[in-house]
Amino acid sequence: MDWRQLEHDLRQQLPASAVVAARQELLAYDCDGLTLQRHQPPLVVLPETTAQVAAAVRLCHQHGVPFVARGSGTGLSGGAVAEAPALVIATSRMRRILGIDLDNHTITVEPGVINSWVTRAVAGDGFYYAPDPSSQVACSIGGNVAENSGGVHCLKYGVTNNHVLGLEVVLPDGTVTQLGGSLAECPELDLRGVFIGSEGTLGIATAVTLRLLRAPQSVAVLLADFSSMEAAGEAVRLVTAAAVQPAGMEMMDRLCLEAVNDSLGLEDYPRDAAAVLLIELDGQQREVDAAIALASRLCRQAGARQVRAARDPEQCARFWKGRKNAITALGRRYPSYYLQDGVVPRSQLPRVLAAIETLSAQHGLPVANVFHAGDGNLHPLVLYDPKVPGISKRVKELGAAILGLCLDVGGSISGEHGVGSDKRCYMDWMYGGDDLATMLLVRQALNPDGLANPDKQFPTPRTCSESVRRVQVLQAEGISLPAEALVF
Ligand SMILES: Cc1cc2nc3c(=O)[nH]c(=O)nc-3n(C[C@H](O)[C@H](O)[C@H](O)COP(=O)(O)OP(=O)(O)OC[C@H]3O[C@@H](n4cnc5c(N)ncnc54)[C@H](O)[C@@H]3O)c2cc1C
Repeated sequence: MDWRQLEHDLRQQLPASAVVAARQELLAYDCDGLTLQRHQPPLVVLPETTAQVAAAVRLCHQHGVPFVARGSGTGLSGGAVAEAPALVIATSRMRRILGIDLDNHTITVEPGVINSWVTRAVAGDGFYYAPDPSSQVACSIGGNVAENSGGVHCLKYGVTNNHVLGLEVVLPDGTVTQLGGSLAECPELDLRGVFIGSEGTLGIATAVTLRLLRAPQSVAVLLADFSSMEAAGEAVRLVTAAAVQPAGMEMMDRLCLEAVNDSLGLEDYPRDAAAVLLIELDGQQREVDAAIALASRLCRQAGARQVRAARDPEQCARFWKGRKNAITALGRRYPSYYLQDGVVPRSQLPRVLAAIETLSAQHGLPVANVFHAGDGNLHPLVLYDPKVPGISKRVKELGAAILGLCLDVGGSISGEHGVGSDKRCYMDWMYGGDDLATMLLVRQALNPDGLANPDKQFPTPRTCSESVRRVQVLQAEGISLPAEALVF
């Protein structure tokens, strides 16, 4: 590919300041939240309008050049990173709120709008936007759509897919189209739903219409601490099986609590606890009162040492502060982390948490757990020092073993962080050849030249010459493969 020619053509059609070609500036785009993999792109553009996105994509189509959409770069599966040379199209200058329709409870935003800005724009009118990833002060709505992101409140209110009504999309040939609209139900084939979670492989979202919810009358947060993770897991099982629907239910283990207490100087999380469970309850005042009583009793039944309830917004925010900053606190305490994202049936939580502890000891790497317990969505963080020779391979092997464990109990290799490049080689652990072929047919229909975010989500012969699990199976049968067969 003649990158100089593409740069020249881009400069003809986009403002000069929209084209980034200087090496030191391109460094900022060499990874996302998955720092294990770094690839600097040859060119980046920062369009400000749908027309500019469409112009850039059309040029890629004409030149046969792959492109990768990028929001805020907080993704944790390598999705926004161009592994092979590609044009990165970043939406960080598309941050306008295009319209608010409170009568119909909707808001339309550009893709670069930060998640928490949506609630900020409507909070004064008593509304909010429910999907709230822990990264909500940084991640973009476009990235949320592409990853079908979750968050604390998705336990009760559902993930991004449940809150996106319509999308304006630039398809991989540069055509601008509309998927869905502003109505909750449309008779058409649900291509909106197909696009959500497609990780930038079907085009670039340039405007998103979101559903707004009315803020609940009353909110309370319970903080329960336990002397074992198993007991906290049992509390999750009891509460979710009972007639109470928490808005969110999050758990942290001892390593997280230590990091949070040390780095934030909090006093709400007991230093000697092995696990803390946070349960948010919302609704009408009387409903919340009853839910607090029931959930507190069930936590005690599971072995909670102490259960405290926060009722006023300031105290609720204090209880949440440690959870919301847990990953940052771990990042301050340890040189690096590899954040995994698997799902298990909630009933299996105690067993799986114990098994992760065993795997951590076997692999000689500490693992901290902070996760959406109510959804069974685990986030084990493998803590490591990148300076140790050969560490990346060991870290990835432990991550793979944890995902294998999730599948063994009937779970999934991804809950909300997507597959990206990080987990594409595990897709065939979960899906058969026919399933993968069907998914690829859909991709091919919308991205026939494979230019939109290539090599993401699905195993390819080039990137996954052998999946780890297949290697493990072969090794168990006494057949060994050369190290090069393991492509990470
Ligand atoms: C500390 C921390 C906590 C996190 N907590 C959560 C959590 O609780 N829940 C959760 O779900 N995730 C969480 N994440 C992961 C991440 O924040 C989400 O996946 C988020 O949606 C990514 O948004 P982004 O704007 O950073 O996207 P990026 O990382 O820039 O991109 C992610 C993917 O979206 C595609 N993309 C971006 N913009 C567009 C667009 N306009 N059109 C089409 N494709 C596009 C990219 O190509 C890429 O494949 C967390 C991450 C961190 C670092």
